[in-house]
This record gives sequence, structure tokens and C-alpha cells, in this order.
Amino acid sequence: MRLVVTGRPLSRARGGALVLGGPVRLESRRGRIERVQPWTHRCAVEGEGSAEAILAPALSDSHAHLVAAASARTALDLAAEPARDLPALLARLRAHSERLPSGSWLRVRGYDEFHLTERRHPTLGELDAAVPAHALRLRHATLHASVLNTRALDRIDPALRSMAVVGDGLLVGQEEVLSRSSADRDSHALVRAIALIGSELASLGIGCVDDITASNDAGRVGLLADAVESGALPQRIRVWLRDADDLSAARVAARGHVEIAGVKLLATNEEDARTSEFRTAISRARDAGMPVAIHAVEPDVVGGALDALAGAPQRRGAVVALDRLEHCSLCPPHLIERLGASRVAVVTQPGFLVARGPKYRREVEAPLWPWLYPIRSLRRAGVLVATGSDAPVISPDPRLGFVGATTRRSSDGVVLGDGETISDAEALDLCTRAAARVRGDADADLPWLRLGARADLVLLRDDPTRGGLGSWRAARTVIGGRVWAGAAS
Ligand SMILES: [Zn+2]
Repeated sequence: MRLVVTGRPLSRARGGALVLGGPVRLESRRGRIERVQPWTHRCAVEGEGSAEAILAPALSDSHAHLVAAASARTALDLAAEPARDLPALLARLRAHSERLPSGSWLRVRGYDEFHLTERRHPTLGELDAAVPAHALRLRHATLHASVLNTRALDRIDPALRSMAVVGDGLLVGQEEVLSRSSADRDSHALVRAIALIGSELASLGIGCVDDITASNDAGRVGLLADAVESGALPQRIRVWLRDADDLSAARVAARGHVEIAGVKLLATNEEDARTSEFRTAISRARDAGMPVAIHAVEPDVVGGALDALAGAPQRRGAVVALDRLEHCSLCPPHLIERLGASRVAVVTQPGFLVARGPKYRREVEAPLWPWLYPIRSLRRAGVLVATGSDAPVISPDPRLGFVGATTRRSSDGVVLGDGETISDAEALDLCTRAAARVRGDADADLPWLRLGARADLVLLRDDPTRGGLGSWRAARTVIGGRVWAGAAS
């Protein structure tokens, strides 16, 4: 497939600012850039973009959870904002169901009739009228009961169905069986939801994703490989495994459609990082030639994880990707120094400064705010820093990360440590070149717009050299030579 794109490429000037180059006309074939030439008035009008359009590299999200993001799409959580009465509840169910692929399950969490003025469950008839085309499971906040609509009752085991309260969809005490029953029959809906995530990420300008879920096994790799093969996920997808022992099965399941990136390990406290199980898990990854990514949020865990990595045997093989610490959400200066001396990369989430800012403001003392996601200090110390959204924990929209990194302004308007802000060009680097260097891509330091490179690029609606990267909105995204429309807002 051949594609022509015209636009002014975004790049970084010597002084470090983002600048626009003169218009170029590029041609891609089979997903690679095959020709780049200066645009002139003699060039035919064809393909995507124009002489005034702004061309940027597609972004990498180096830390996300694709399957969880897809599942979250099919669930509605009422816990934070319970419906006040039955009409309000039914209206929300109807509105949410309209966003889902038809025939899929609508799972609702945190439902409690206690909050409803009527103090009763909705009837089967009321649920069927509100949600006619989806199987609905309204799970009670106590986790001991669910209320189903007719579509859902039709799809579960008949033996289970007979236990429902007569004339009603209320099913008490069968939660585990029900979960299995509704999950097994819903894999098609999950695949469709993954496709929604794939196109949403494309519409945001994201061309490469690391799925870094700590439970990833060969089955999960197979699911994501199917999604890539079918075109549901247009991105370059890299999957981190729960253990090095899953490597051979995962390679078979990947079938060349997704990359096996390394092993993801969880350390929720310092003791976790100091157990012998943790150390042998790192050793197994090293023996298998794979990098390790360790979930390390608090300072004590960061210290423990660095010790564990330093004490492990050398990695075998030729893989050059770096070991990495995920999050480093609170990282004081002495650990920044240790990280700088360690050759361990940090993959962090500046978007949390925006989305979770009000929470940090309550829970972290003001003198410590500069230690939250201290990207400027980490980079100064020579640490290779890349960023991810951690979707679905927060939105995958890269604007959150750009605003967090460049302003550190929380969603309620307070700046959390202004000495740690970085420039637009540096913020763009975190999810382009630095991400490629953390991955160990051989071409990480070459210009993004060059012959032979993957045709992964974005035509932006607004000029970030004027409005800053916080104005990042894709008009079109090209991934592997395929064109995707940008997000509506
Ligand atoms: Zn995560």
C-alpha cells in the first residue's frame, strides 16, 4: 500500500526548542518511508496533509495495560457516584450500553439498592427496557449478589438461571460461577473492546505500546497477537511477561505479531524486593536474556529493586534493552543519584501529576512535591527516562503526560514542584526517542523522518511550537502506512 503525506516536520532545534521545518512530501510503501523530498508548488495535491500541515512522530506509550483498558470499557462503576433513584440508574445503564459493541456484556460494579430512594432492585422488565441489546450484570457492592436482565439470564448456565429469584433477575451467592460463565462467553466482546482501544490510541497519535501487565502469560500474548494480526491493534505491541519461564510458550503464541519485551515483576514493598523468590525471578530473566521491569512506586522499593538488580547475575545474549523501574512516583535525591549511576531506566507517568494531583496534595507534604515524578532531576543525573500513561488507571491521552511534565499543574490548578518542569521538546523526547532507547531500538538516535523508517507519524491539528504540547491533537495518525482519523476533541 502506497501513501503520500505532506507537512512541515516537527523537530528539535540546537537550542532545545521545538521548531517546524520546511514542507516535505513523503511517500510510504508497505509501512516504511520510501521517499522524502522538499515540497514545491509543482507537487501534485494527493494523499494526506498539506504544505501547512504539521507532521510529528507517532508516540510511544511505554507503560499501559491493554486488556484491562479493554475490560474497563465494558464495565460501569457506580461506587463513586451512586444513582439516587431507579430512573437515574436506568438512564445511566442505557447511556453506557450505547457505547458498547452490541451483544456484549455490560458489567456494572458498585451497585447498591440502599442508595435508591425506592430501596428495591429494578425489575427484570425495567432492566430489559433500559438495556435490551446487551447482557447486563448489575453486581452488588457487597460482591455477594448480582441482578441480571433477560439477555444475561439467557446466556448463563440453565442450572444457574433456575436459581434466580422467580420473575426477577436477582441471583444471590453465585458470584464466582457467574463470573466464569459471563467471561467465557464474552471473549468476542473483549476482542471488539481491544479494537476500540486500538483505534482510540491511534486517534491520539500513539504508534507503539508496551503492555506491562504483571500477569501476562502465553494466553494473553496470543490474544494480543490475534488483535494485531486482525488489524484491531494497529500499533507496534510489546508484551512483558509475568515470568521468564513463560518465554518459549509466549514466543509461539506471539507468532511474530507482537514482541516479547521482558519480564515484569511486582514489588509492593521493600521486603518483596529482598525475598529470594524475587532475586531468582530476576536471575531467570537474566538467564533467558530478557530485561526486567520492576514496579517500584515508593522510595524504599526503588532502593530494594536497585539492590536486587545489582546483585543479580549478568544478562545472557545480545538484547540491549535496559532494565527499568516503573513509576518511581516518589523519588528523593539520593535515589536519583543511585539511579544515575545504575544504567537502569525509569518509565514514569507525569500524567498522574495532573489526574492525581489533588490526591498528592492531600497526602504528600509540600516540601516533598519536587520528588514526585522528578523527571528533570532524573534526566540531569543521566537517567534514561521514558513515559507511559498506565491506562486504564488514567486516560491514555498523551496530553495529560505532556501537561504534567511541562507544567506539573494538577487538575485543580496547583503546581507540584515547579523546579522539576521540563521543556516541550524534552517532554516529546520522553515518548519518542527516549522510549526507543529504553527499548534498545537500533535506530533510536536516528532522525524520525528518514528513508526506511516505519511510517508512524501524526498530522497535528494545532502548532505545538505556538500552543505548547498541551495542545497535542491528532488530525490524522499514520501507523505502518495505514491512516486513522484523529480524536474528536
Ligand atoms: Zn501499570
